[in-house]
Amino acid sequence: MILFDQISVVVLENDPSVIFALDSSLRLVYCNPAWDRFAVANGGAALVRPAPIGKPLLGFIKEPLAAYYETAYQEVLRTLEPWRHLYECSSPSTFRRFAMQVLPMKGHGLLVVNSLCVERPHDSAPDWSCEAAYRRDDGILVMCSHCRRTRRVGALEHWDWVAHYVRELPPRTSHGLCPSCLEYYYPDGV
Ligand SMILES: [Zn+2]
Repeated sequence: MILFDQISVVVLENDPSVIFALDSSLRLVYCNPAWDRFAVANGGAALVRPAPIGKPLLGFIKEPLAAYYETAYQEVLRTLEPWRHLYECSSPSTFRRFAMQVLPMKGHGLLVVNSLCVERPHDSAPDWSCEAAYRRDDGILVMCSHCRRTRRVGALEHWDWVAHYVRELPPRTSHGLCPSCLEYYYPDGV
């Protein structure tokens, strides 16, 4: 599949972040399994693959957001500059924020990676209590040099966009590359 000449589908299939790809007319050409899980968990069972494939993404988004995203995505297609965006996507019971990274795919369209954005209030004292989720046994946490997501320690690799780590680099941080950035920026290996 020519769309993925920059990135292997296996990496996308295994990534717990919701990832989709758009062609240059902003139609969905790919969604990963995390997309399906998110759709089912949020009452959008009709959006489970393969139903959305080939459909315009913006048809699933209400105005005025659809116009906002259309402008932003068209800009990435035009400039070939990645775009990062923080947004809220809460369900009635859960408040959630996500970090969206939109990557141009060498003229073939866009790859969109949505990772959980972990935050703490601006006015609270520094609270590293969530560190247990990110520090390895050796006390090091690993942040991706490109998208600045932090690797969550656990059986499955999750990379979250931890807002306070990005604002202020925590001690004992090692820089690495998350699987999707590794594939995207270094398709031939590092
Ligand atoms: Zn990354």
